[in-house]
Amino acid sequence: MLQDLPDLLVLARESSVPGDEVYPVALVRALYDAGIIIAPFATHLGGEQATLQQSTDAIRQLAVASPSLALIASMPVGLAGMYGLGPGAAPAQHREAWMSQVEAVAANYREQELYAACNSEKGAGGSLAATKTTAALGPGGFALTGEKILATSGAYATHYFSTAKVQPAELPGAGVVEFFFVRSDAYGVEILDDWDGFGMRATESQTVRYTGAPTEALVGFPNLIETVQPLQYWYCLFAAVPLGCAQAVLHELATPAPQSPALRLRFAEAAMRLESLAAYLNETASGWCAAAGPGYAARVLRTKTYVTQESTKLCAELFALGGGRHYRRNSRIAMLMADAFAGTALRPPLSLALETLAETFELE
Ligand SMILES: Cc1cc2nc3c(=O)[nH]c(=O)nc-3n(C[C@H](O)[C@H](O)[C@H](O)COP(=O)(O)OP(=O)(O)OC[C@H]3O[C@@H](n4cnc5c(N)ncnc54)[C@H](O)[C@@H]3O)c2cc1C
Repeated sequence: MLQDLPDLLVLARESSVPGDEVYPVALVRALYDAGIIIAPFATHLGGEQATLQQSTDAIRQLAVASPSLALIASMPVGLAGMYGLGPGAAPAQHREAWMSQVEAVAANYREQELYAACNSEKGAGGSLAATKTTAALGPGGFALTGEKILATSGAYATHYFSTAKVQPAELPGAGVVEFFFVRSDAYGVEILDDWDGFGMRATESQTVRYTGAPTEALVGFPNLIETVQPLQYWYCLFAAVPLGCAQAVLHELATPAPQSPALRLRFAEAAMRLESLAAYLNETASGWCAAAGPGYAARVLRTKTYVTQESTKLCAELFALGGGRHYRRNSRIAMLMADAFAGTALRPPLSLALETLAETFELE
């Protein structure tokens, strides 16, 4: 349950050793044991119908303790958030199949099977429309072919959810891309060992190659991404990660409070900026619902862009105030600063987000 989070944070903080780049297997298990990963699902499925505000806050708090753990957790928590929308998310003709899938996936969460996002592609710039991976219909269902990058959790995942393009004739009503589930141990799935991140070292964000890899199922129903608009859930979670990093940097530098009045003022300013970023994110998260429309998508894009950008700036400014003692590659605040910059790279990456903001700018 989310109320167990404080104990876990202590554990995560103690286990997060600067310079330690090992995937946090025990902590991920602890998150499952405590019901944090399954929390957005309905109560009868093992969750607690956590709201996006609650999930965002949980990811932020996790990021304060361990940014890599928070990023790992955000992938399955986001998927659970989509399923937490329940029957109302599906058009009537797909509702029964949708609810069967909600139950099946929740059962896998209860078995602690890890769902990971495996969507990004080299050169796509974070744009779904630029996805090159294809799904082809064969006798056993759809099979994927293509190369994905930066799949957080890599070989530790049990299932991937992956975007692919389908032929409209093979899936009537299909959108620009569809999400498919693929088991990580299926034939035709090759998980590389090429992760060498600037920060987020423990996330094992690997390249994954699909060569006719069989899918387990289409996620939801045709055109799910445009119909339900689930991506905004993840964008709020992603914004919470660098925000947590900036809070952790401030905590490191300002505890105990320094003697210098100049430093105290800078830290007070940083606290105000952090509180306003958290309030902005919280208010945006409170608007989440199925098919929330273009106005909400634009609000989430602004929030994700602003919160990630300002959090990374703040980390850098605070780092500059840290002095020589912290000027080591493995100092905690240096690592937090590197971790924070993942927020601007996470979907939608900053330059794509800015392009979209410019293209669609209009005052309401
Ligand atoms: C630590 C970490 C973990 C991640 N985990 C995952 C994960 O689990 N699953 C997953 O699917 N992805 C993951 N990602 C990927 C992330 O979500 C982005 O989608 C991905 O980084 C975008 O691709 P790129 O920046 O490498 O783009 P590139 O294609 O290399 O583009 C390079 C730059 O050019 C810009 N650009 C390119 N084309 C355009 C265009 N048409 N319009 C505007 N700008 C453009 C991009 O925005 C980018 O800044 C992770 C990334 C990081 C850093």
